[in-house]
Amino acid sequence: MTFGSFDEIAFEQVTCMLCGSRDCAPAGTVESHGAKFSYVLCRQCGLKYMNPRPTAAWYAAHYGEHFWEYKQANRSWRDSDRQWRVQDLFKRDKSGRQRHQSKRIAILEPLLRRHSKLGRGRKLLDIGCAYGAIGAGLREAFGCEVWGVEPNATARQVAQEENGIQILANEAEDILSLDPAGKRFDVILMSNVLENILDPLPILAACRALLSDDGMMCVHTPDFFFYDAMNPYHPYIYSADTLSALLSKAGHGIVARDCAPTASERNSGGPPPSRADRFVTVFAGPKGDPFDMPNNVDAAKMAQEQAKSLALQEALVQMRNRGVRGMVRRLLK
Ligand SMILES: [Zn+2]
Repeated sequence: MTFGSFDEIAFEQVTCMLCGSRDCAPAGTVESHGAKFSYVLCRQCGLKYMNPRPTAAWYAAHYGEHFWEYKQANRSWRDSDRQWRVQDLFKRDKSGRQRHQSKRIAILEPLLRRHSKLGRGRKLLDIGCAYGAIGAGLREAFGCEVWGVEPNATARQVAQEENGIQILANEAEDILSLDPAGKRFDVILMSNVLENILDPLPILAACRALLSDDGMMCVHTPDFFFYDAMNPYHPYIYSADTLSALLSKAGHGIVARDCAPTASERNSGGPPPSRADRFVTVFAGPKGDPFDMPNNVDAAKMAQEQAKSLALQEALVQMRNRGVRGMVRRLLK
């Protein structure tokens, strides 16, 4: 496996995608395949973004094949193609990847039940549907029709042929030139996708024309405070506030937000921990409320809050793991 394209990355300086400011504070670096990727935190709105970052042309030229090589080099993605079939998600003997997909369905299903009208006869569009396993899992749960958008040809084929996903478009950007006539979806899902998209605003805005009257965007992404997911394919790391501001800027109203309380919120008696602990999910649609762009955030305080919340998250995971091991030991006695 080679990652040749990482030897010749063209980087460029960028301004904040969300608020347009250049005022930012360094927020960490990550090394991948011998290249260094730096992140900053916007001092105006609090968006964490890669800067400098590879040019759009570099991403366009190398994204498809290298993204999947990159993903497959990760431990949980290493199993055979069989893992992508939805029926495998319900087997007891699950690969790491299946467990990951089942977990994501387990997070999304109750949230969609609570906040959307998804059900029999309704339509779900899964943007970045990959091999279609999550879409097919949600079809099992809700009896809805599932459509997908997926740039990778192999993934698209499996989604269509093995998981029965109807393909609407190949690239998320294709939505911009799509004729919305006769195409209305009750839920447009973007699960672990938005953080990969360089220019998300026009795509989110174009989704408005594809939503039914009581339709809903459901955007699910790593939460800045709990999952600082720095890697070459994540130009942005969102929080509940920056994600809400982005959806609002794209013309959607905010209906509901689901994320775990940060360390300070928890200390001051905040809401109970969510199941979606490392992720933030925002529901947005025509019936929601506008969300004001965060202004003049304290970057140092945000970084501090992030460090505390990450540590708290780690402690909770350890406790949960010890709890499970203790339970197994008790059962085996
Ligand atoms: Zn900003």
